[in-house]
Amino acid sequence: MTARILVVDDIPANVKLLEARLLAEYFDVMTAADGHEALAICERNQVDLILLDIMMPGIDGFEVCERLKASQKTAHIPVVMVTALDQPADRVRGLKAGADDFLTKPVNDLQLISRVKSLLRLKTLSDELRIRADTAHTMGMGDLMRAGEGRGDEAGQVLLVDGRANSQERIVKALKSVADVVALSDPQAALFEAAENTFDLVIVNANFDDYDPLRLCSQLRSLERTRFLPILIITEQGADDMVVRALDLGVNDYLIRPVDPNELVARSLTQIRRKRYNDRLRASVKQTIELAVTDPLTGLYNRRYLDNHLNVLFNRSMARGRPLSVLITDIDRFKQVNDTYGHDGGDEVLREFANRVRSTIRGADLACRYGGEEFVVVMPDTSPEVAAAVAERLRAAVESAPFMLKRSSEALSVTASFGIASRIGAVLTPDQLMKQADLALYEAKNTGRNRVVAAAA
Ligand code: GH3
Ligand code: MG
Ligand code: MG
Repeated sequence: MTARILVVDDIPANVKLLEARLLAEYFDVMTAADGHEALAICERNQVDLILLDIMMPGIDGFEVCERLKASQKTAHIPVVMVTALDQPADRVRGLKAGADDFLTKPVNDLQLISRVKSLLRLKTLSDELRIRADTAHTMGMGDLMRAGEGRGDEAGQVLLVDGRANSQERIVKALKSVADVVALSDPQAALFEAAENTFDLVIVNANFDDYDPLRLCSQLRSLERTRFLPILIITEQGADDMVVRALDLGVNDYLIRPVDPNELVARSLTQIRRKRYNDRLRASVKQTIELAVTDPLTGLYNRRYLDNHLNVLFNRSMARGRPLSVLITDIDRFKQVNDTYGHDGGDEVLREFANRVRSTIRGADLACRYGGEEFVVVMPDTSPEVAAAVAERLRAAVESAPFMLKRSSEALSVTASFGIASRIGAVLTPDQLMKQADLALYEAKNTGRNRVVAAAA
């Protein structure tokens, strides 16, 4: 994950320390020695995340954070406050100023890297949704954000999973004024509850005698219905390893016992707000775009949308110097399917094929039906190696399980061929990129089908 991180601290030694650790993880690092400089850098540059000291001369970290969050241009940049103060009151003040997270000095290496990565992952998803909304806007589809407005002020719906009655009671009481809480002590029941209902947040209290709470977190992340649901985990002091693994799994935030009720409320509200913002984006992208730019048979984006959006993704990847990969796939011998099972049978295969594409790719990837039985997946921030792995996974997902047709008792074996290409080196335009992928697909067809071919770099 390459991303640009801004480190803000008035003490040069602190800046150097954080910078060195981040550089070791191949992040792109910028630095600022005070609040004004930090704000100026954010105005002029693409910044993906900020590590912000609180106590600085001039404007302090709280105020810098407030100003960043108040400006349209910078409100979406995650802010991690790095503080020597370990007072719950300061954390609450920071969260009110809009901070996304905290790290306490001296900064623990693992926590630094895993929190940074977890916030960047979230940001990638929101960015993706936001620019999709922008694309629809330029395509003349009105202001998308208005479409999903509404649910902003209602009480949050929280699912609490907690093995102990007394702590359940305390947490429910703390959240009473801001959320409706459903409390369960059985993790498996909780997973069903989360999948069946609409929650804004799951709080997992890691206090089970004989159950690994990370199992539940990982299950929540893998179910389609719950994969965007924020998770906050509560652990005991010293459980650093668990926290790091939790964040790696995609858990959004954590609290350490004893839980300060104010901090619990503030962190829960942050997660609920962020969830609703993303829900609104997702809902409006859905409502407004779907009609105009969706392929009615498969529900994937259509070619018109791809042509527009690929330009945006391509330019963004150029501007940031990040990779971008595309995959083109074409079903093998599809004409025979139509000839044998009729056009309706062919349509069923196309729908099932699209479902397999959808369930194989990430949320940030863009899948579309490019033509008859040809599909394209655009993968931002994806290297040629990863793109090849995705294509191979999809190829196997198509080949490994037969397609079932409603009107026929036969199970149908289907395969597809794949061409992939990445924006590196000589590829200068979206057209060139598509052409390369197309040539690779052509080669995959010519060399026996049911295979993945990567364009020569
Ligand atoms: P290859 O392995 O070389 O790709 O062979 P193929 O038979 O898949 O390729 P060809 O391009 O010759 O045939 C594609 C067929 O897909 C022809 C066309 O009738 C069919 N087709 C295109 N759009 C649709 C559709 O929306 N529904 C159905 N059922 N068939 C479609
Ligand atoms: Mg074909
Ligand atoms: Mg074809």
